[in-house]
Amino acid sequence: MTDTAAYDAIVIGGGPAGLTAGLYLARAGKRTLLLEERLLGGQIVTTDSVENYPGFPQGISGRALIALFEAQAVRFDLEIQFGRVEAVRDLGEQKEVVVSGFPFQARVVVAATGLLQRLGVPGEEEYLGRGVSYCATCDGALYRGRPVAVVGSTEWAMEEAHFLIRFAAPLYLITGAPELRPTSDLRRELLAHPSVQVVAGARPLEILGDASGVTGLRIAVKGSESPCDLAVDGVFAFAGKKKPSTDFLRGVVDLDEEGYAQVGEDCETSVPGLYAIGDVRRRRFHQVATAVGDGAVAGMDALRHFREEGRR
Ligand SMILES: Cc1cc2nc3c(=O)[nH]c(=O)nc-3n(C[C@H](O)[C@H](O)[C@H](O)COP(=O)(O)OP(=O)(O)OC[C@H]3O[C@@H](n4cnc5c(N)ncnc54)[C@H](O)[C@@H]3O)c2cc1C
Repeated sequence: MTDTAAYDAIVIGGGPAGLTAGLYLARAGKRTLLLEERLLGGQIVTTDSVENYPGFPQGISGRALIALFEAQAVRFDLEIQFGRVEAVRDLGEQKEVVVSGFPFQARVVVAATGLLQRLGVPGEEEYLGRGVSYCATCDGALYRGRPVAVVGSTEWAMEEAHFLIRFAAPLYLITGAPELRPTSDLRRELLAHPSVQVVAGARPLEILGDASGVTGLRIAVKGSESPCDLAVDGVFAFAGKKKPSTDFLRGVVDLDEEGYAQVGEDCETSVPGLYAIGDVRRRRFHQVATAVGDGAVAGMDALRHFREEGRR
């Protein structure tokens, strides 16, 4: 039989949300383990410049920001181990977290596993953070006066593109739909903007680049026999698969139809003592600041959970 390692709290995921929850819990004197599947930092380490996280007037690279998060959490004895969490089980007062078949136990578990979104075309991983972006509000200002392509036509994509029109020129809107209709004020303004060129009936084939980063986007356009290369410095991808990393929570807590964890204001899921924070829960904006906010909320609410449990 396998031994079980017991902690007060286990945080799953070492992005901004998880590192913040870990900091709050460890600083409160709780024996806390953070489990990370890959490298610490999550999505933000893929960008070279974070300009909208307070405290860094000149901006900071995602990697440098996360190094500071880590140093602060470790100072309060947050224990960090690497491994992919395969399952979480609700055993009542205790929760079990399984990594490579090994069970860890804790009274509080915080899921901070973020999300992944990919167009799924060649060049995407290679140029991630070097011209490939998934966040106009994060990276748009880096493309002042430069050509970019926005892939996608959902409301979210339109909002992101609308944010970009103050910077990028030209701005190609790549949509698989036969046309983009001005069905809202935002769309009207976007589609009428002189920088915007709609490329309808198109799908991305490959992101092109060199040592400097992205140099173009290869697309297939309906009705055209050969692919077309657009010369762009940035590709903002708002299409393809975007999926919260919650497979290990399925059947344990309430998830919505797209797999986002359903939580209340305190970030607690349908299972007491089990929290879901950051990009893994549905909200309008997914940012470092919002993830950090969730980490603080869950870290503090977990202390309430420990107290109430102690009284039982
Ligand atoms: C290219 C890019 C640029 C961005 N720029 C900005 C910006 O400038 N400003 C801003 O505010 N926001 C920006 N964002 C958004 C921001 O990065 C996210 O909102 C934020 O990282 C969310 O933090 P999180 O901790 O919730 O999740 P994530 O950052 O996604 O971290 C989740 C972590 O959990 C780990 N994990 C997943 N599954 C498991 C598992 N089963 N077991 C163990 N570990 C697991 C992952 O490896 C990952 O490290 C950007 C995002 C991208 C992609």
